Amino acid sequence: MADSALIIDDSESIREKIIKTLESRGLFSRLYQAEDGLEGFKKLLASPVDIILCDLEMPRMDGFKFLGMMKGRPEVSDIPVIILTGNEEREMKIKGLEQGASDFIVKPFDPEELVARMKVHLKIKHLQDDLKRSNELLLELSNTDHLTGLFNRRFLMESLDKELQRTKRKNGQLALLLLDIDHFKRINDTHGHLQGDLVLQKVALNIQKELRSYDIASRYGGEEFVAVLPDTSLKEAFNVADRIRLSIQRMQFAGCLSTEQVTASLGVALLPSKSFDDIDGLLRAADEALYRAKEAGRNNVMISDSTAQ
Ligand code: GH3
Ligand code: MG
Ligand code: MG
Ligand code: MG
Repeated sequence: MADSALIIDDSESIREKIIKTLESRGLFSRLYQAEDGLEGFKKLLASPVDIILCDLEMPRMDGFKFLGMMKGRPEVSDIPVIILTGNEEREMKIKGLEQGASDFIVKPFDPEELVARMKVHLKIKHLQDDLKRSNELLLELSNTDHLTGLFNRRFLMESLDKELQRTKRKNGQLALLLLDIDHFKRINDTHGHLQGDLVLQKVALNIQKELRSYDIASRYGGEEFVAVLPDTSLKEAFNVADRIRLSIQRMQFAGCLSTEQVTASLGVALLPSKSFDDIDGLLRAADEALYRAKEAGRNNVMISDSTAQ
């Protein structure tokens, strides 16, 4: 098993007895020990474990203080803690559980009971870890466009909200690019929807490639993409848009698409603007510029009229 545990107790003999018990069962691959809450907390931050056994009465930092410190650190606050108490310490047991401990073991402890309780809490911990991972995956999936792997429209709109607030607060600039593939319907009609999907994937890759890590690339819908560029001037945004346009024009395909030249048109808009101060306005301005880029013959980048200075 790859689990690890931390044993905190000011009595060396108790620590040794616990470690011997745990080692004899082969339950853990790593066992750490500390003689009070402070040393325990330092070791815990240096190497987070799967479960903790913690005495209550200790010099320097006792078990209650240790539990309180754990609560303040999200990276360790979910680790189960089993407190070690004397048999008569009813109030202490209750207080420990109230402070966030998962369970208690009465000293002198019965090795079988200690191991059984640790197994139960490890099992719960693993289930919680799995659940957390599943939730993270679900969140990622719900933010992602499944065909291209870019962010989806839902995530884009949420992020735009946040970026708009941030831009206003900082009196900054926020650029938005709206991209639409030229004559994409013809590609679908000529080569079929699956080949069309390949083109969408490759366009997405090329958009992503030209952006910085903190820009947001999203599939806005169908064959339209939106890129959000925080802290970017109009000139920089135009340059990025033109680099994207060129990289799409240079794309090469194998098979039946090998004779196709795919191009795209882009509209660029920027906040702040004299004409609008919200997301709808920014998207409309980029759409108006995109329309002009199409009108001008496609494979083109245009800047929104309400943005141009
Ligand atoms: P324009 O240059 O004016 O933009 O012409 P266009 O043909 O690109 O524009 P139009 O809006 O007429 O066509 C968009 C096409 O995109 C139609 C639709 O079938 C296709 N499309 C939308 N979503 C997908 C998709 O997920 N996969 C594929 N293969 N095609 C899609
Ligand atoms: Mg003690
Ligand atoms: Mg379109
Ligand atoms: Mg199109």
